[in-house]
Amino acid sequence: MMLSEYNPSGRSDSPVDSDRCKASVLDHSWRRQCSRKVWRDGWCKQHHPDTIAERRRIRDLREKRQIDNDPRFLLADALEEIARLKARVAELEANHDKEA
Ligand SMILES: [Zn+2]
Repeated sequence: MMLSEYNPSGRSDSPVDSDRCKASVLDHSWRRQCSRKVWRDGWCKQHHPDTIAERRRIRDLREKRQIDNDPRFLLADALEEIARLKARVAELEANHDKEA
């Protein structure tokens, strides 16, 4: 989600209040300026790009964790591991036979 800045365009739009967060929010399908106080760089804490990036990072991590715990992926990983170990065993057996 890319956040846009409040930009009054219509006659009925209230002017930009520099004491408040500059984010444009939807209020009953009406665009208005965010009512929260400025936290940093003209944004409130919730609408600051850093906060949004952090929220996205956490969401991505959560999705990744779900994938990591998905039985289908766990099975695929286990089968891959078995194939890897079988190849390793074959390699070791070949070396063992050479030495013997
Ligand atoms: Zn805000």
